[in-house]
Amino acid sequence: MHAATILAQLDHVTDPSTGGLVPSIHPSVTHARQGSDIALGYARSGNSGAALVESILIQLEGGAAAAAFGAGAAAAQAVLATLRPGDRVLIDSGLYYEFGRIIGAFAQRFGVGLVRVDLCDPDAVARCLATAPTRLVWAECPSNPLWRVPDLAALAALAHRHGARLLVDATAATPVLCRPLTLGADLVLHSATKYLNGHGDLVAGVLVAAEDDAWWHEMLAAREAHGSVLPPFEAWLLLRGMRSLALRMERVSETARALASWLALQPQVRAVHYPGLLQHPEHELARRQFKGGFGGMLSFELGDSAAAIALCSRAKIFRLSTSLGSPESLIEHRRSTEGEASDCPPGLVRLSVGLEHQDDLQADLRQMLCAEGLKRMREAAILQEAAAPVVAVGLCSPPRP
Ligand SMILES: *Cc1c(COP(=O)(O)O)cnc(C)c1O
Repeated sequence: MHAATILAQLDHVTDPSTGGLVPSIHPSVTHARQGSDIALGYARSGNSGAALVESILIQLEGGAAAAAFGAGAAAAQAVLATLRPGDRVLIDSGLYYEFGRIIGAFAQRFGVGLVRVDLCDPDAVARCLATAPTRLVWAECPSNPLWRVPDLAALAALAHRHGARLLVDATAATPVLCRPLTLGADLVLHSATKYLNGHGDLVAGVLVAAEDDAWWHEMLAAREAHGSVLPPFEAWLLLRGMRSLALRMERVSETARALASWLALQPQVRAVHYPGLLQHPEHELARRQFKGGFGGMLSFELGDSAAAIALCSRAKIFRLSTSLGSPESLIEHRRSTEGEASDCPPGLVRLSVGLEHQDDLQADLRQMLCAEGLKRMREAAILQEAAAPVVAVGLCSPPRP
């Protein structure tokens, strides 16, 4: 069955007590036992809403087991909880900034070896894996904010040859566009806060595993120990959001591709990062690895931080905000969000393309870029006139040739 059908019907859900086509919310912490039947026990180990999210994700990803969490970060903590002092983990040098920080802090505190490597460079990964035993390779597809695309089948084969497991954070792709487990990955992580929910009104996370094995049961035990299961009300909201996921991914992919192509033609723009563009370094791979689009995330670069910050501040339709996957389009100067230690290119502007009409988004980007161009020309004109101060340049006057 197609993802769109499973999602629209929430896997043909029928409420057992009413026959309703919408799942009910079951907030009960504990459940009456009938004899020795303890199928539903204490709510810290799960609830019916989380279970429905999990069964749908298992189908979408082609996995063996899934677990829903109260945040993408909680899902990551459950994975980290399976590491031991002395274990070695490879993470992508372009990994989502916040996870780089969280994993880095964890590794330092618990004596886990952490190596950053460009996972889009298979030779570098092979060299790294050959130097010491490695437990886990932590990839992101596409990576954030340059939207690089690692070759997941090649990475999985490499990791397995060296006894390591492959985790893929596929938050920005979603299972509608890319299914890492079918390419050999062992574990997929989603921040369901983003596209899976799609409405910017809850925080949630999901893990989907290729095998229901001992490693997976350590993650389930960690979820229970941390108390990080997705709560019933959030699960219900997430399920409502997921119904339109396939449709939303189709629309944001179309709009983002059009905007990326248009941005690439603008003289003020130095570079555009989007896997759907021919000039993207992994475009050919992305065409094979993604189905039905390249997603709604893209970045572009201006000359410097100041130009990028000024541009973002002129947004009228794009909302100046971080995060991704919401109905409303978001724009941000990425380096300001990541902070001092960021190695993001200074002039990089990140867009999360939403569900607005493409023409309105393009018009907004045009007015932001034009205003930036005018300001630069005006500054140049003022400098020239300072040498011969006969006519002052009014702030609103058109630029001189
Ligand atoms: C937001 C995000 C996360 C973190 O998820 P939360 O739900 O905020 O905890 C992880 N990975 C990626 C790629 C993200 O964008």
